[in-house]
Amino acid sequence: MQRTVSTVAALAMAGAPGSAGATGNGGGPPLPPGFPVLGAHALAVRCDQELEHRRQMLAAMERGSGHDAGPGHILQEFNALSLRTGGFDDPVAVLQAAAPDAPTRAAARTCLEKLMPFGTEIFQSARLHARVQAYQADDAQDRSYRQQLLENFEDAGVALPPEQRARVKAIQDELNALALRFQNNLNELATTVRLAPEQVEGTSPDWRAARTRDADGNYLVTLDYPSYGPFMESALDGDARRAVWTAFQNRGGQVNLDLMDRAVALRSEMAQIYGFPDYASYILRRRMAGSPQAVSEFLLSVRAAVTEVEERELEDLRAEKALLTGGSTEALRVERWDVAFLQQQVKRRRYDIDPDALRAYFPTEAAVRFVMHVAETLYGIRFVRQDAPGWSPDVQYYEVFEQAASGGGGASGHGALIGGIFLDLFPRPGKYSHAAVFGVRSGSVLTGQHPIKALICNLDAKGLSPSELETLLHEFGHALHGVLSKARYADQSGTAVRRDFVEVPSMMFEEWARRPESLHAFAQFCPQCPALDEQQIAQLAAARNLGAGIRYARQWLYASYDLALHTGAPKDALATWEQLEGASRLGHVEGTMMPASFGHLMSGYEAGYYGYMWSEVLALDMLSVFHGRLLDPAVGRRYRRIVLEPGGSRPPEEIVEEFLGRKPSSEAFYDEITGKR
Ligand SMILES: [Zn+2]
Repeated sequence: MQRTVSTVAALAMAGAPGSAGATGNGGGPPLPPGFPVLGAHALAVRCDQELEHRRQMLAAMERGSGHDAGPGHILQEFNALSLRTGGFDDPVAVLQAAAPDAPTRAAARTCLEKLMPFGTEIFQSARLHARVQAYQADDAQDRSYRQQLLENFEDAGVALPPEQRARVKAIQDELNALALRFQNNLNELATTVRLAPEQVEGTSPDWRAARTRDADGNYLVTLDYPSYGPFMESALDGDARRAVWTAFQNRGGQVNLDLMDRAVALRSEMAQIYGFPDYASYILRRRMAGSPQAVSEFLLSVRAAVTEVEERELEDLRAEKALLTGGSTEALRVERWDVAFLQQQVKRRRYDIDPDALRAYFPTEAAVRFVMHVAETLYGIRFVRQDAPGWSPDVQYYEVFEQAASGGGGASGHGALIGGIFLDLFPRPGKYSHAAVFGVRSGSVLTGQHPIKALICNLDAKGLSPSELETLLHEFGHALHGVLSKARYADQSGTAVRRDFVEVPSMMFEEWARRPESLHAFAQFCPQCPALDEQQIAQLAAARNLGAGIRYARQWLYASYDLALHTGAPKDALATWEQLEGASRLGHVEGTMMPASFGHLMSGYEAGYYGYMWSEVLALDMLSVFHGRLLDPAVGRRYRRIVLEPGGSRPPEEIVEEFLGRKPSSEAFYDEITGKR
C-alpha cells in the first residue's frame, strides 16, 4: 500500500489562492459559519454566483479600486480574494470527496471544474502582477507572501508571449480536470471479489462478520482498507490473496492510465514552454530539494542503505513460506501477494503479535481521544466536541481552544478559540478511499479567521491496528499544522509549505504511536482495554523494524518511478512502471497496473513523491530535540511556535535549523532503515 497521503485536495495545485471565509457584498450570500452543507442543486446555483463574484473582485483589484472587504494594499486584497475563493472551493472539494450521495459528489466535481480555471486567470493578469511587483514589503511575512505571489505569477506564465500564455492556461486547466477525473474514478469504484467461505480461512471472526455475503454464502470482499488490509495479512489461501491483490492493483484501470499518460505529456509540454528540459526541473526549483539531480542523489543513497535490509527480510519470508508449505527454500518464490501475509506470520512467530487481536487495545473512539490528549499536552490546547452540521451523519466536529490561562486542573475552562477539526473516519461507498486532510477554511491572522480542517480516512470502526493508529496520528499531524497556524495570510496558512516539507509534522507525529511514554496514556481513555506493557511495546517496535527494508524499498520504487516519469522526454506510465517494478526483487506481475491508482501523481505529489522520505529525514532528526520525553510540554510548545505556527511564511530550512539549533542530519533516518534507531 502507498504511504499515507497528506493534505491538499486537487484544488491547492491550481495555484488558486488557499482558503476560506466570508466577505462579500456582491455575488451570493455570505457562507454560514462551519461547514456549508449544500445539496446538488444548491451547489450548482451557488457555483455560478461564486464565479461571477470572484471575477468582479479580480476586476476591482486590476483597477486598483480595492476589494469588497474595504481598502487595503495589494497583499491584503489577495488575502481577501483567497479567503473568498477557498471558503467556497475547499468545502466543495470535501463534498466531491466525501458527500454520501452521488448527485452531490458529481455536482461538486462539475463545480470545481468550472471554478478551477480562475486560479490560473488571476496569475496571468499583468496588471495584478505589476501591482505586486511595485509593492514595498516592510517585514518578513509581507516579503515572503509577496515573493510567493511573484512565483505564482511566473509559474502561471504571466511573462510569456500571449500565444504561449494561452497554451499554458489551457494545459493547467486540463491538468486540473484530469486530476479530478482520476480521483473520481477511484472514489466511485465498487469492485468486489467473490470468495467462497473456505477461501477466507485465516481471517478474524470480526472481519468476516463485517463483510457482505451473497445468497450462496460467498463473501464479497471490497477493496477499502479495513476490508483489504486484514485480508491480505491473514487469509491462508494464496490464490484468494492473489485474486484480491490483483483487483487492488488494478483499481482505476486503463481509463486512469490514459489520464495519467495525458497528464505526463502535458506537464512536459508546459515545462518546455518555460524553457526547462522536463517537468521535474520546472517544479523542483520551488522545493527544498531544488533540482532533479538533488532528488536523484538522495534516492541513490536511500537505495544503497535499503538494499541489504530488504534482501535479508525477503530471505526471512522465503524461509517462512518454506516452513508453512513444507517446500525447500530454494524452490520457493515469494510473491507480492505473499508479503503482508508472511510478514504477519513471522511477527506472530517471533514476537507473538497478531494485528487483529491488537485492535482490542486501540478502540477507535478511544484512539481519537488519545491523539487529542497528546496534542493537548504538547501544545497547550483543548478539543471540545461541538454539534455542527457536517457532510454526513458520520462526521464529528471539534473546536480547538487555547488552554485556560490559569492552566491546570480546571475541568472545562479554556481560552481563546483557535480553529476546528472535522473527523470523517470510516469508509462509505463513493468516498475518497485513502487517508488525507482536506482544508475547510484557512486561517488568516490578518482577518482573524480561524482555520478548519477535515480528516478524511478509512479506518476500522471498532479498533485500530498499530499501523492504523500511525495513520490517525499522521493525519492529525497535518490537521494540527493547519489549525495551529499563525500565518498572516491565508495562502501561507499551516500546510501551505514547500511540498517536500509538508510531511514533516505528520511523519513526526507517527512516533507517538510507537513510544511507551505516550502509549501508557492510552489507559486513561479506555480503562477497560487491555494495556500494552513495556515488553509488548518493545516487541511491536521490533516487529515494525522487521518490515523496514521492504517498506523503504517500496517507497524508493514509488519515488524513483515518479522521478523517471517526470524527467527527460514524456514516458508511458504503465511501460515505465513495468520496467522499474520488473527490476525490483519481487518483480512485476504481468497484467497488473498499479499506476492506475497512484493518486499522488495526479494530486500534487507529481515529481514530489520523494518528499515523504525527504520529510522523514527531517522529522526523525527533529525528534532528537525531545530527548526521549515525548510528552514534554516545554519542547511541544517550542515546536508549535517554531515549526507549526509560521506555516509557509518562513523558509523550511530556517525553521528546521532554529528548532534543531544546528544543521540537520540524516543519521536518524538511515538508522531507521537499517533498524538501528
Ligand atoms: Zn501525509
